Amino acid sequence: MGDEEAAAAADAVRSGWVAQGPRVAAFERAFADRLGVPEAIAVSSCTTALHLALINAGVGPGDEVVVPSLSFVATANAVRYVGARPVFADVERATGNLTPETIEPVLTSATRAVILVDQGGIPADLDAVRALVDRRGIVVVEDAACAAGSTYKGRPVGAGAMSATFSFHPRKLLTTGEGGMLTLARAGHAPRLRRLREHGMSVSAADRDAADRAGGAPVVESYDELGFNYRMTDVQAAIGLVQLGRLAAMVERRRELAARYREALADVAGLETAADPGYGLTNFQAFWVLLPEDFPMSRDELLGELARAGISARRGIMAAHLEPAYADVEHVPLPVTERLTRDSLILPLFHELTEAQQERVVAAVRAAAGVRAAV
Ligand SMILES: *Cc1c(COP(=O)(O)O)cnc(C)c1O
Repeated sequence: MGDEEAAAAADAVRSGWVAQGPRVAAFERAFADRLGVPEAIAVSSCTTALHLALINAGVGPGDEVVVPSLSFVATANAVRYVGARPVFADVERATGNLTPETIEPVLTSATRAVILVDQGGIPADLDAVRALVDRRGIVVVEDAACAAGSTYKGRPVGAGAMSATFSFHPRKLLTTGEGGMLTLARAGHAPRLRRLREHGMSVSAADRDAADRAGGAPVVESYDELGFNYRMTDVQAAIGLVQLGRLAAMVERRRELAARYREALADVAGLETAADPGYGLTNFQAFWVLLPEDFPMSRDELLGELARAGISARRGIMAAHLEPAYADVEHVPLPVTERLTRDSLILPLFHELTEAQQERVVAAVRAAAGVRAAV
């Protein structure tokens, strides 16, 4: 974030309206337009967007929802928030995403929804998954937490799903400090979801204020069903509007840096790296590399080597089924998930990374692999 974000936040503070208000509405409009969908609903996080998306899909107790274990834990947690059962499916190695082949074996008569994650920003094959599940009446919710700025068959990721969710946590490419967005293919679902976001209120605080200012009779709201406080603030939305304007340039720079990584690491035998799938473009939210089985050291040893060289890399994507919180969930064998979570790591990639810094990372990985220094 830079001076423009700071100035936009300051303007919101000075405006006197800091909770959900006109800037949230403007951010929603701009986000929906960028995706080419009728509605976007700004919320407090991607996790709360997932919760609302599952409510919108009618998922509840007794239902099963297929999720990848290979994801941030929030994906599976959202299923439990509505009282449904998360069912883990394996992922494909090249993308880290669910596919029809991994989903089909875990479908049952109780399956109500699939949460399709675009892991690390790599688009999942939404059409292929829908071809499997649509005819069974199973809804796809796209967890595009990492995928703002990625594309699927030429359209922004999320545009083809009944609902898609985005995260604006600082770990993600576009950030508002904390925050999220729920996008909808059908506008008709938006009014109820906007009410659920704001305690179930029939009239939003912003609309009541506008009515008061117009000088008519005071508008009194009612509370017709159980709601939540999942609002975004106008200060966050002000930052988000600036960040959205920067998104294309950030993605372009990340894609250049990722291409440099791929080229410089191409001769490390057996090393696989994050890449575009044939049907879309990733924003390289995460540039992960998968170590071959015969790599001279373990993933954790390599992370240690990099740390000693002053390089902050991170383990690859977690697997929820290996965490104590999910120890009680039965699942099919998840060999690809376990291999990816054990042997992959995420190399530093951010749009301000310099080429000299990147060369240091490459040199350290190549040295660990026993390959001579890059030119
Ligand atoms: C980060 C992330 C989330 C959670 O996003 P929050 O905005 O922090 O709630 C959910 N799903 C995936 C795949 C993520 O990467």
